[in-house]
Amino acid sequence: MNDEKHYNTLSAYYKEKFNNKVCKVSLNAGFSCPNKDGSKGVGGCTYCSKSGSGDFAGSVYEPLDIQFEHIKAIMTKKWPDAYFIPYLQANSNTYKPLSELKKIYEPLLTIDPKVIGLSIATRCDCLEDDKIEYLSELNKIKPIQIELGLQTIHEKTARLINRGHTLEEFSSCVKKLRSHNIEVVVHIINGLPYETKEMMIETAKYLNSLDIQGVKIHSLLILEGTKMGEDFKKNPFPILSLNEYRDIVIEQIRNLNPNIIIHRLAADGVIKDLIAPDWTIKKMVVMNEIDKEMRRLNAWQGDYILGNS
Ligand code: SF4
Repeated sequence: MNDEKHYNTLSAYYKEKFNNKVCKVSLNAGFSCPNKDGSKGVGGCTYCSKSGSGDFAGSVYEPLDIQFEHIKAIMTKKWPDAYFIPYLQANSNTYKPLSELKKIYEPLLTIDPKVIGLSIATRCDCLEDDKIEYLSELNKIKPIQIELGLQTIHEKTARLINRGHTLEEFSSCVKKLRSHNIEVVVHIINGLPYETKEMMIETAKYLNSLDIQGVKIHSLLILEGTKMGEDFKKNPFPILSLNEYRDIVIEQIRNLNPNIIIHRLAADGVIKDLIAPDWTIKKMVVMNEIDKEMRRLNAWQGDYILGNS
């Protein structure tokens, strides 16, 4: 943490761990999701777009090595000496038989000498024991990071958004991953329908009870082509203003264990298909508002739990 950023940023964490700039390369390996195909649920989480949060990943129509090379070439122009972490982002990236996962993960770990790990986004109900054991073996070669969607700890909201797994399933998966020393990053969403500020802060506080290494905090995006988008147009629910979002995020950070690395504080701005909230388009503005207000308040990550305020 420093005068600019009053929380633990991912870039500072990577700088310290690898002594280098590290770029994540978002890839689309064409996975599906058990919450969409009927094996766990139908229709998916109500806010989920067809791309399964893969709007900023490579093109699913290209092989992974080509996706990687395209994105690497763009990043290398800006950061010629950067290291890379392939990031399987779209949908649930452990939702295939283990034999197929091996054919996807292992080439990515050796695709380039500057690849220093692998990041995999998935659901807690797509990580059977044999997969966790395999990931644990890979983790001994290069660091593996698993990103798990939680979104909220409140079961009423989880049912409303059709998340399709329980909080217990989530926490038990985190424990298993950690027993194999695999780094865990958790996604939460602020602004889910009918959640109060207090409920969102409770979700952030709950993270302190888990042995997790990172968090991604997102604002809810209500998109065309989603169930939530259709429902919202017929029966709008209250959405957060930028100032409300900023203030909730700051309270969450102040309640968050300072050892947890904050990977993200705002969703990537999506213009296409966005219904609301419109301020989410300007991610940098959102980030700057959070930073500015934290400096004004002299607020720091974890200061509420450390008793420094
Ligand atoms: S778990 Fe992820 S990919 Fe699956 S429906 Fe929910 S948001 Fe979409």
